[in-house]
Amino acid sequence: MRIPYRRKTPILEKLIERYDSVGSCWQWKAGKDRSGYGRIWHDGKNQTAHTVAYSVFVGPIPKGLHVRHTCDTPACINPEHLVLGSHADNMRDKSVRKRVHGSKNPMSKFTDAERELARTLTGRVKDVASIIGMSACYVCILRKQKEMHKFS
Ligand SMILES: [Zn+2]
Repeated sequence: MRIPYRRKTPILEKLIERYDSVGSCWQWKAGKDRSGYGRIWHDGKNQTAHTVAYSVFVGPIPKGLHVRHTCDTPACINPEHLVLGSHADNMRDKSVRKRVHGSKNPMSKFTDAERELARTLTGRVKDVASIIGMSACYVCILRKQKEMHKFS
């Protein structure tokens, strides 16, 4: 008997299952568009994967702003490489190709040690998050990463 499987895969899992770590970048391995941006179906729309990743891992994107890469890798969905910018910023990036490492990114304030702690601590995500001062969502990501990529 076929068991009806109607539950939609949560967006977080969809994102986490569809990238490969390449250096510090999380390279989207599912569908990409001609410019190299990952594409994902979310909220009834075909969207760029890095934009969805930003809204899931970091937070909502204010109207009129774009999600930009600090790593110049269109397929990358690592929230630490994503920053908000205006359209003008985008254009400037394209001409100058300046690499600024996520100073405006709320996640760049965490050290490797803190990230490691988030991966190691057991207990409720909420508690771990408040101990380290991270968002619960980010703790979730780090834990999933550990499971999937077997961090030592
Ligand atoms: Zn990247």
